[in-house]
Formats: sequence, structure tokens, C-alpha cells
Amino acid sequence: MSKEYLIKEIYVDCPFCRNVHMVEKRRRETQGIVKGEIVDYKETFYLCPITNEEENEFVPAALMDENLLRARDAYRKLKGLLTSDEIAEIRKFYEVTQSEFSNLLGWGDITVTRYESKKIQDETYDSIMRMARENPLFTLQSLEKHKAKFSEDKYRRIRRKVVERVEESAIQYLKKQEISSIYVNFKEENEYNGYKILDLDKVASVIGYFAHSVINLFKVKLMKLLWYADALHFKRHGKAMTGLVYKHMTYGALPLAYDEIIHLPTVKIEEKIICDEISYKIIPNMKVNVSDFTVEELDVLETISTKFKNYNSKEIVEYMHEERAYKETEPYNIISFNISKELRELR
Ligand SMILES: [Zn+2]
Repeated sequence: MSKEYLIKEIYVDCPFCRNVHMVEKRRRETQGIVKGEIVDYKETFYLCPITNEEENEFVPAALMDENLLRARDAYRKLKGLLTSDEIAEIRKFYEVTQSEFSNLLGWGDITVTRYESKKIQDETYDSIMRMARENPLFTLQSLEKHKAKFSEDKYRRIRRKVVERVEESAIQYLKKQEISSIYVNFKEENEYNGYKILDLDKVASVIGYFAHSVINLFKVKLMKLLWYADALHFKRHGKAMTGLVYKHMTYGALPLAYDEIIHLPTVKIEEKIICDEISYKIIPNMKVNVSDFTVEELDVLETISTKFKNYNSKEIVEYMHEERAYKETEPYNIISFNISKELRELR
């Protein structure tokens, strides 16, 4: 239980020795009680290595606050409530301050500030903040309703940003519909989807993962990474990871709906002109949680991104051209996972 470790050594005023000297900043797992519940969390403290007293640890006020926040976040996780970081993320999604976000939802100036620092929100407040994240239209309506709380300038600035988010989410919704209709013939598990029905949330997470772990990620390369991830997962576990269906195209395997899937919410597209041609750079848009993946999936993703991290688009295309999945299928045909699983060792 009591895993304890040194974070760093630091010069501070030691209350035992009453002078400034080197003390150890340490962290350990501990338990605390929040709202009558026992929670496990990590606490940070200082340890004086000089004093001979039995009592040689101390916690200055700033660290105390940090520890409390961690204990409360542990409680929030236990109860399925948004953590202080998650609340801050929603607010940043709309690029508003704590008091602006608070007023936008019709609350007092400091309600959100309290939730991000100390106080634990009740379920009603929690679900309103969740709704603000999931549905920008709800946020827009809430802003209109509480317009009077803002100066004209502020209202306009916030509204512009929220409307942008509404438009984005509309595009994402439409793209999801398009993807579903393109996959309408793959509603059953078979050799073409790797015995996995298309899971769009998983596709979004995998794309987000690669956008985070591979710098300079362009569209062509992303499509190969997706195929390798699915093929390797199939090879190891007899099932693809995402349910995407791939075709044999000039630049290697290409998933159906390749133009639509890059509009999923985890990534943003940047148009870049390279040698007079437009390229689409994929950049991360949303945090991807490790918990979105199984241990097996994470292992596959790590293997793929480590192998191909430094390949440019041309190199990965050439590499893929040597796979049996490519050599033994006809152009424009769907590639069966029964042959994809023959992929070469990724060393
Ligand atoms: Zn000391």
C-alpha cells in the first residue's frame, strides 16, 4: 500500500531546524476520508533528513491544498463526477474564464472557480457541465438565456467561439452519418472488417492516439498506421481493432470513408502547401484517455507508432507495398484480414 518515492530535493525553510536547507519532496499513496467515503490518493510532503526527532515531515499550505484537491478528485472519480481537470477542460474548449463559464451556465461568479479548486459539485451541476461539453447547442442556448450577465463585447466574443463549436459538432455529426451509410454493407462480422463491427469511438481514439504520438502526421501515413494497427491486432487476437474495411489502392491499404474519418472529434486538419500540393496534416484536438483502450490494444498501438514514427509518407507506402495483403490483392478490391494477418514482423 504505502508506495513512497522521492520527487526532488529542494531548498525550503524547515520548521524543525528553523532555517533554509535541503529537504526531500516526497510522494506516497495514502487514504483519506471525503464526505464520509474512504478514498485512495497520492499525497505530497516534505521530509527533513537532518532532524533526529520522530516527527520529520511537514506540509506547507500550498501542498496541503494540492493534496486536498487530489483527495477530492479521487472522490469524484469514485462517484463518477467530473474531476477539477475535466471541468477546466470543458471551459477551455469554449475558451472562457472560470467566471465566464459560471455565468454562462447561469451560476454565480465563483461557482466554477470553487469546483476547479475545492468544492465538490453535486450531481445536478455535474450533469449541466457534462451537457455543456457534449452539446455545444445547449451551451449556446444557455449563453443566450444568460446574456444579461455579460457586457456586449464579452457576449459577442463568447458567442462567436460557441457558434464555432456548434458548427464543428454539426460537421462531426454529419460525417458520422456518412460513415455509417458507407459501412452499411458491413453490419456483420466477416473477414473484411476483421470480425469487428465498425466502432467509431474506437476509430476516433486510435486516430487521436496516433496524432499525439507521431509528429508530422499526414493523411496518407495515418491511413497506413490504421491498417497496420488493425492487421497486427487481428494477427495477435483474431479480431481487428476498429472495424474499418480496407481497399487496395495505389498508395497501399485505404479504409472506406477515409475522407470522413479524419473529421472525428479527436483530431483537427491543417491544410499545408508542400511542393505546390495541398497536404492534410493531422493534429490532436482532444485528449485521448489511455482507458479508452484495452492493454492488448495499447500494446499494438505502441508497437505500430514506435516502428513507423520516423517514416515519411513515401517510405511507409513503399513498406506497405511489400506486404502480402497488397501484393496478393487486385487493385480497388477489398483486402481480407485473412491475408492482412500475414504481415511481416515489425522490428
Ligand atoms: Zn530540517
